[in-house]
Amino acid sequence: ILSLSAIAAFTLAAVGGYFLTDTAVKPIEEAYDKQQQFTADASHELRGPLTAIKASIDIMRRHPERFQEKDNRKVGAIANATEQMTRLVEDLLFLARAEKKTTKSNPEYSSICLNDLLQKLIDLLEPLAAEKNITLNYQVFDEVFVMGNPDQLNRLFSNLIYNALNYTSEKGLVLVRLVQHNQLVKVAIEDTGVGIAEEDLPHVFDRFWRVDKARHNSGGTGLGLSIAQAIAYSHQGKITVKSKLGIGTCFQVSLPILNHKE
Ligand code: ADP
Repeated sequence: ILSLSAIAAFTLAAVGGYFLTDTAVKPIEEAYDKQQQFTADASHELRGPLTAIKASIDIMRRHPERFQEKDNRKVGAIANATEQMTRLVEDLLFLARAEKKTTKSNPEYSSICLNDLLQKLIDLLEPLAAEKNITLNYQVFDEVFVMGNPDQLNRLFSNLIYNALNYTSEKGLVLVRLVQHNQLVKVAIEDTGVGIAEEDLPHVFDRFWRVDKARHNSGGTGLGLSIAQAIAYSHQGKITVKSKLGIGTCFQVSLPILNHKE
């Protein structure tokens, strides 16, 4: 009788535990979805007033003779701050959209040749590399297709390659490598830049996190890696990072390969 009641108690606890977990997770998921929707709506709503501010700034800049020099300088500062805010609003909106739960049958998804996508990005960023005297190399061994949202995948890799160039100094090296591994494609973006300290590595994908906390006006929004991670996850992939301070950093993105070429 004792052992039977023990089994019954255990079963009840297990079943109870299951339901508790299930019912406990639902409101958390709902709260998360609501927060995402709020971020998407708020950033979308902010676009309108920002466009109006930019239009007024444009008019003022076209007629500098109407203002005193010190006022024109202030207009310049307002224009810079507005640019920064626009980037932030656009990044928040992009992040909220990228974090939305998606399925493989997402209508925005199509078959994408990753080699072409990366080659176009490299061509686009080559002048920036040349300007900084950085060697930007691209190594590819196979032609690989993935299923995904082209804008988002473009953004994922441009954020990583742009960061690699941004955090690498003159005469450095940035290497983009694409390899096929079983059913996965692995894209590594490696640089010989400033590197990230070991204690900082767990935070790099956090929103608004930066090694240099003072660099709020640097142009970046501190959302680039959060966006990259959200895109990798929504494409059933993942992103990892290895780094050594003063030596360099390697971000690796793994994505499921699309077997058939459509
Ligand atoms: P940011 O707009 O500041 O570049 P990110 O989310 O793209 O924002 O990156 C967050 C922080 O991670 C950066 O501020 C930088 O400190 C660090 N970081 C990102 N990529 C690299 C890299 N390749 N090398 C060194 N540090 C990096």
